[in-house]
Amino acid sequence: MRHNGHKGRVERVSARSENTFSYAEKVQLDGALGRTGRITTPHGVIATPAFIPVGTKASVKGVLTESIQELGAQAVLANAYHLYLQPGADVLDEAGGLGRFMNWPGPTFTDSGGFQVLSLGVGFKKVIAMDTETFRSDEVIAPNKERLAHVDDDGVTFKSHLDGSMHRFTPEISMGVQHQLGADIIFAFDECTTLHNTRSYQEKSLERTRLWAKRCLVEHGRLTAERSHRPYQALFGVLQGAQYEDLRRKAARDLSQLNEEGTSFDGFGLGGALDKEKLGTIVGWLCEELPRDKPRHLLGIGEPDDLFVGVENGADTFDCVAPSRQARTSAVFTKDGRVNLSNSKYRRQFSPIDDACTCYTCKNYTAAYLSHLFRAKEMVASTLATIHNEHFIVGLVDRMRKMIEIGQFYEFKEDFLGRFYADSTRVGSSAVKEIKPPEMSA
Ligand SMILES: [Zn+2]
Repeated sequence: MRHNGHKGRVERVSARSENTFSYAEKVQLDGALGRTGRITTPHGVIATPAFIPVGTKASVKGVLTESIQELGAQAVLANAYHLYLQPGADVLDEAGGLGRFMNWPGPTFTDSGGFQVLSLGVGFKKVIAMDTETFRSDEVIAPNKERLAHVDDDGVTFKSHLDGSMHRFTPEISMGVQHQLGADIIFAFDECTTLHNTRSYQEKSLERTRLWAKRCLVEHGRLTAERSHRPYQALFGVLQGAQYEDLRRKAARDLSQLNEEGTSFDGFGLGGALDKEKLGTIVGWLCEELPRDKPRHLLGIGEPDDLFVGVENGADTFDCVAPSRQARTSAVFTKDGRVNLSNSKYRRQFSPIDDACTCYTCKNYTAAYLSHLFRAKEMVASTLATIHNEHFIVGLVDRMRKMIEIGQFYEFKEDFLGRFYADSTRVGSSAVKEIKPPEMSA
């Protein structure tokens, strides 16, 4: 295995000199693909591994941008699909880009919109019964009158979940939108398949995603030259291939070797639907194939046990809506697992949610107060719970980074997970990152 020959400290800097983006590996985890490093962007450095909070519509729901900075986040990730529909990518372009628009001074990401186009297209979930274990069909992406996200070799036509208007994303359009949005790290437009597609469909889809990746590189190169007055934007290729080892490895090799008219990917997104039990194996396959001098982002993963698995197997950055989405339902993280503040036992807990937590919420408020706010349906309940959850997950990945650097990652992993999941009923769900219904509530 490639990683066994590279234990200890290494410094590798991306060879690209025409841009201001780079990745340098620092310390490698003994006996695994995990590593620490630094991603340098025009808006600052991200020490990795790192968890990146999601501000889907250029806002982490219910929380001020300044609070996201204060709780320790190094970057934020917004969604190209949502911002394209509302307020429009041109508005963010005029504002000077995503960071300036939302008053976030640090590094920013946007995902390509491919996942949302396919999963939020009205009618999509009517066609596919994701709760049926035996469901195996390609109908979900085959032409179908009821379904309003339609994939062809050129792109995807979809219906807005906001007003039902029709839109079309192609690799070129996604690149145009993401250049206007102006994030430091952007993603190639890909077809996100589900675990329910057949093997033959996955093969066909993977080739489509490869051809789209080439088109993204060409258009990205053209836009980078045309918009040279703007800060450099790094483009990450997205790796699909579902649960198949040969397809995943092929995706990683193909996309890391692409060079279109002098433009190649600056990093990689590990994408697609991922079965929880195979998460580490799949991330490992990809990271074994990928070049070590480029960063890897694991898309849409944020449960504590999944984050450990992702870090151990070589992912550098992570994003997920889970910490904020769960916070809004009064579910908060503690070192002893996830708890629900709506539970009556918190009505008189006049101490913080978690004694060990150093977040703004825990420094200033008690669990009893938050429990009251949730019962009374006060808006600030979500705000305070989100600050705590984002701080918890960002801090957890920060600690993984420090533990790799001092050689204590495995001990930390055992201690943390042993305590967090001590109540086995809390051990995670059967699958992570399946296609989920749209986040309709704003
Ligand atoms: Zn806290």
